[in-house]
Amino acid sequence: MTDMSKRGLLQSGALMTAGAVVGCATPGTAANAPVTPFTVADTYVPIAGSAEMFPVRRIYCIGRNYAAHAIEMGSDPSRESPFFFQKPTDAIQVVPPGKVADHPYPTLTKNYHYEVELVAALSKGGRNIPIDKALDLVYGYALGLDMTRRDLQRGMGDQKKPWEIGKSFDRSAPIGPIHKVAQTGHYTKGAIWLKVNGQVKQQATLNHMIWSVAEQVSKLSEAFELFPGDIIYSGTPENVGPVVKGDVIECHIDGLPELSVKIV
Ligand code: MN
Repeated sequence: MTDMSKRGLLQSGALMTAGAVVGCATPGTAANAPVTPFTVADTYVPIAGSAEMFPVRRIYCIGRNYAAHAIEMGSDPSRESPFFFQKPTDAIQVVPPGKVADHPYPTLTKNYHYEVELVAALSKGGRNIPIDKALDLVYGYALGLDMTRRDLQRGMGDQKKPWEIGKSFDRSAPIGPIHKVAQTGHYTKGAIWLKVNGQVKQQATLNHMIWSVAEQVSKLSEAFELFPGDIIYSGTPENVGPVVKGDVIECHIDGLPELSVKIV
């Protein structure tokens, strides 16, 4: 082998190493933004009382976190560990307070359900976070809807297939602005309710959660490394149910502005 070809190999090896680094999911920054053939939108949620926006990295959702809802979904609330699924970040539909946002009835379903939920937004991350440190990660809270194509979720579950199509679809995560913990404190015991066309459908208090937000963060961090920008839909109380086009959903959590959508 000549010196020239040796040098060539070394150089291509160095390029491959550099390529491997570039190839991992490291987002570009303004300073070293990669050149791309098109742009992909980032996802942001407004921060109440601020000109800043909260950048969303991942959307985690906890299942069956209120005893009565676990029972209505056919499981035993006393034995089940918290379980998590994700929605894509572009499932976010920002709903400004004081407005009724149009929310499109999705394709493929004949049984479209609401689930009102408290959402915790993280500004810090980590792995294996102890429960007594977990709330330090929480930047703020929002009111959210975990909209669900229940027939598809159940159908896939019955076939022991992933029920992603029932949960993780476009605009399945309406959300209001994020309220900073620094201004509001943590949400642990207030009322949470949801009305359809003025009629109360879901009603509970946050202290009915089986796993608190601190416990959710702690458990989640055993399965995934958490990062700033992760948000957690913390589960819904009992009495989930269907909506049809024309219905208006109103959601409430004590201390947060109400969130309303009209199914169109
Ligand atoms: Mn849910």
